[in-house]
Amino acid sequence: AKRAGGNRLEIFNDQMRVAVQQRIVAESRLRQALDGDRFATLPVWFQPIVSPATGLIVGAEALVRMWTTEGELLAPGHFITTAEETGLVVPLGEHVLETALRHLTEWRHELGYVSVNVSPRQLSEPDFVPMLARLLAGSTLVDPSRLVLEITETALLSTSVDLKQRLDAIKALGVRLALDDFGTGYSSLTWLQSVPADIVKLDRSFVAGLADDPRKASIISAVLWLARSLNMSVVAEGVEDLADWEALRQADCPAIQGYFFSRPVTAGDFQEMLAKTRRV
Ligand code: C2E
Ligand code: CA
Ligand code: CA
Ligand code: CA
Repeated sequence: AKRAGGNRLEIFNDQMRVAVQQRIVAESRLRQALDGDRFATLPVWFQPIVSPATGLIVGAEALVRMWTTEGELLAPGHFITTAEETGLVVPLGEHVLETALRHLTEWRHELGYVSVNVSPRQLSEPDFVPMLARLLAGSTLVDPSRLVLEITETALLSTSVDLKQRLDAIKALGVRLALDDFGTGYSSLTWLQSVPADIVKLDRSFVAGLADDPRKASIISAVLWLARSLNMSVVAEGVEDLADWEALRQADCPAIQGYFFSRPVTAGDFQEMLAKTRRV
């Protein structure tokens, strides 16, 4: 509360005011971006997913960005929560999926798969599975198994729809599922048991610095073992240095992702990287 005067609105302190203003700004920017040329205002960047054994790119995660009218490029941390709360994540997510599939088609001879984040709100849309089926029907040059949808545990907790049924419907299309940020939730094992996932994305909090931390290394070995016995693959996220890369290679981790190999880059730069890495 600021000035005296007994006004009820005084409980609306500076911090709340700033938060509300930021949300309003984020929402209006998002609406503008979605109204504009989506391919230009909401570029989809790609971060390589690499085999530590071979150093080859096996897949890529699609990560959305947003240009503001002021010419600033925003990371999703600035707008995804607002997109989620307003429902704007539905058209945004469809744009990301469409763009990712278009690039996968283009890169199909060099790239194994593309991985796309799906938020709880998208997943609970009644049109989600039909929309996905339409996009796949329009991408006949790539097999649906080369699309991976990344879901987080929070997504699973916050959806009201019959989630199991929805995930089964997605799987029935041939699309693969990945458990994102694995290990950070409270019921990771329950989740592992109940979700028909193909890939576990081990959260970077277990990965960064593992070469110097025997506890992290033990957790990683255990997850690798568990995933293997469940017939799931593993991507270790947040690999930031050579020591961690080396430790994961020695632990036979099938795939890694992180700044050490590459930060997320534009589609154009990704294509160049693909061409170069292949030649090695
Ligand atoms: P995420 O799904 O966990 O994606 C990985 C994030 O970690 C990306 O941040 C990536 O740039 C960052 N990262 C990758 N390697 C490293 C590393 O070695 N060290 C560190 N410190 N960070 C690394 P980004 O692109 O800012 O995305 C943040 C989050 O926004 C994503 O987290 C995801 O939850 C969400 N997001 C991104 N694109 C989309 C989208 O198209 N739809 C939805 N619903 N969410 C998205
Ligand atoms: Ca992700
Ligand atoms: Ca993640
Ligand atoms: Ca995350």
